[in-house]
Amino acid sequence: MDEARTPERESGTLHEAEARFRIAFEEAGISMAIVGLDGAFLRVNRALSELLGYDEDALLGGGFDLIHHDAGGPTSDNWRKLATGVIERYQFDRPYRHADGRMVWGSTTLALVRDSAGAPLYAIGQMQDITARKEAEERADRRARQQSALARLSQLALNEQDVCMLTRATVATIAASLDVSLVGLTEVDADGGGLTHVCGWRGDDADAGAHAPDHLDEAHARHALDHGSAVVVQDAADETRFDVAGLAARGLASGIAIPVAGEGAAPYGVLGMYATAPRAFDHDDLAFLSSVANVLTGALRRQAAERGLRHQALHDPLTQLPNRVLLLDRLRLALARRRRENRWVAVLCLDVDDFKGVNDSLGHAAGDDLLRALAPRLSETLRPFDTLARLGADEFAILLEGLDDPSESVRVAQRLLNVVAQPLDVAGVALRTTASIGIALAAPVADVDGEDLLRDANVATYRAKRAGRGRAELFDDAMRADTVERLALTNDLRRAIEQNELRVVYQPLVHLGRRQASGFEALVRWTHPERGEIPPGRFIPLAEQHGLIEPLGEWVMREALTQLRRWHDDGFALSMGMSVNVSRVQLSRPGLALEIVALLEELELAPDRLIVEVTESAVMEDPDVANATLDALSDYGVRIALDDFGVGQSSLACLRDLPLNALKLDRQFITSLASSREAAAIVRAVCDMARTLRFVVVAEGVETEAQWQVVEALGCDFGQGFLYARPTRPEDMRATVAAIDARLGGRGAARV
Ligand code: C2E
Ligand code: CA
Ligand code: CA
Repeated sequence: MDEARTPERESGTLHEAEARFRIAFEEAGISMAIVGLDGAFLRVNRALSELLGYDEDALLGGGFDLIHHDAGGPTSDNWRKLATGVIERYQFDRPYRHADGRMVWGSTTLALVRDSAGAPLYAIGQMQDITARKEAEERADRRARQQSALARLSQLALNEQDVCMLTRATVATIAASLDVSLVGLTEVDADGGGLTHVCGWRGDDADAGAHAPDHLDEAHARHALDHGSAVVVQDAADETRFDVAGLAARGLASGIAIPVAGEGAAPYGVLGMYATAPRAFDHDDLAFLSSVANVLTGALRRQAAERGLRHQALHDPLTQLPNRVLLLDRLRLALARRRRENRWVAVLCLDVDDFKGVNDSLGHAAGDDLLRALAPRLSETLRPFDTLARLGADEFAILLEGLDDPSESVRVAQRLLNVVAQPLDVAGVALRTTASIGIALAAPVADVDGEDLLRDANVATYRAKRAGRGRAELFDDAMRADTVERLALTNDLRRAIEQNELRVVYQPLVHLGRRQASGFEALVRWTHPERGEIPPGRFIPLAEQHGLIEPLGEWVMREALTQLRRWHDDGFALSMGMSVNVSRVQLSRPGLALEIVALLEELELAPDRLIVEVTESAVMEDPDVANATLDALSDYGVRIALDDFGVGQSSLACLRDLPLNALKLDRQFITSLASSREAAAIVRAVCDMARTLRFVVVAEGVETEAQWQVVEALGCDFGQGFLYARPTRPEDMRATVAAIDARLGGRGAARV
């Protein structure tokens, strides 16, 4: 220090004032220094040496750089201006390192002191300790940064579907917001055992880079999991709660590990961060990390909920199998892959035969049990990458991918039919069921879409059912053409019903004993504007499938009975009845009987003028509802005829349970009488039984005199067929009946 420039020497005349100044300087509560024009401390007071933790000598000797290395310090422009007398004073804030290593913030004001001639002499510096204020500011600043980082993360968590992306962002957020050198996230394995590294971040300093790749100390993480909350390590050297060998080995001195909750009660994993130096993580750090963990938890829970919703939207709740939507999605992908791989794709529709019967006889719960039991059986038959879906009540679909040989699909279908046929224990009953399967194939290059393929398979299933259940049927081009045609026809039929394009013709029934016409069967006719006559055998099934049979049947019923009313009014056919065909679909509707009764009353027709013709299969379809309807009609006095007897699985036993007035032997049966002794025996047995059970027997489709004679000899009561009359337009009916009567009477039989 330059003695010549001390204040004492410069102004000896102010000695007293100087002494006062020195005392004031030394004892001042505020830190002060006298700084020479070269920027070096000439003198420092006690408060300053206390603030910085160095004694006076240390400051005067080596404390030079404490103030010197900063823009706000003495070597700055400001200092040069001050030292040359351009400015009188200036002020700056800056941090200093305390002797114990911590940072101390000072706010310093330097003021120039001039000599009596006005030349710059030295500067007096006063420094105020603003550490607390600075720390508060920094904390507020950091908090704001953390908050905005958290807000960004929350935003991301809302939009990001990829857990991996989200966890990476989480780790990055922590790394950017806290002064740490290592951040890591681990996941608790599904079995609750191991911890798996999810992602991590390392500070770029070499030390941290050398740390183990899992970024999170396992012992620390486990302790946090056991603890169920954040575990803060301030200094690994003092840590006693868990084994710090892992931390020590990696040179980590401090850190926080915090559990991240998962979707349910079980934790998802642990989030952790570490620093290489001991550190008193403050409340803010902890709160921030908790918030980050919460954001992650919220996102994981939300994603789990969304996964749940997605699952629900794409799966059948009963069997947990994929539903139609998911099947179609996979089908779309499979069809695309098929082109690339040059392989076949097959869709199988499997329909449980007589599922309704199970529901009706054992209850819906048993029906559900059956489906639930069936699902795993079916899927065990398939390869792991095939898709088994449930489309509807008793309808399953199977997607077979990557087939080299399309016939493989038929083999799979056969295996499926076999497992369905194994008895299943349902509601304590060993249930045997069968299924019908339709198969549709997509060749490697064919242009098909999923919906079409599924629909084709469905059509083939329908075929399989009609061909006799328990079998598989392959969709082919003929079926495709047929499907298209059926769709077109159905549309036309809808219009035909609405626009009254249908007509009813009547075929007389003949009483064989009395040898006269005794009644009529109403038969619907449709003349298509372009295609001409469409046989009812073609459009009635379409009407049944597409919900058109009810309006159609209702219309025929009203038309036929109105016709009979008209004839009666004209004094014609007064003793004759009208037979009307009622489809099985109509029969399954409970309101049918009431509607028919109301119609009879409206037309003032005696109930026994009407004969309702139902087929046996219609009755068997839903015996309860059908029987209720038939019983109600029968109680009212309407007569019931069982149509088409002899085809299908007719059983004589069931005849006893029905309120039957007539039985119509199917035309095929009558045709086979000529060649089959067995047929004749059956007809005789039926006629015998009819007498016991008090119903009459009608022979349908009598075309020849020979047939007439045979059916009469076997005991049939009535005949119907081209031999007597073809179905006839109502306006020609008088003539037709007259001709029949004349012809039959002409054979010499007595009229009754
Ligand atoms: P179905 O009830 O067995 O009616 C008798 C069918 O046999 C009629 O055919 C009739 O024209 C035909 N037929 C009568 N005698 C002979 C014969 O000697 N030889 C031959 N080869 N055929 C004979 P259609 O009119 O074509 O009706 C076919 C089926 O369509 C009917 O069979 C019936 O099941 C259904 N059907 C007709 N009209 C209606 C209706 O209004 N409602 C319902 N639900 N079904 C109807
Ligand atoms: Ca009939
Ligand atoms: Ca018939």
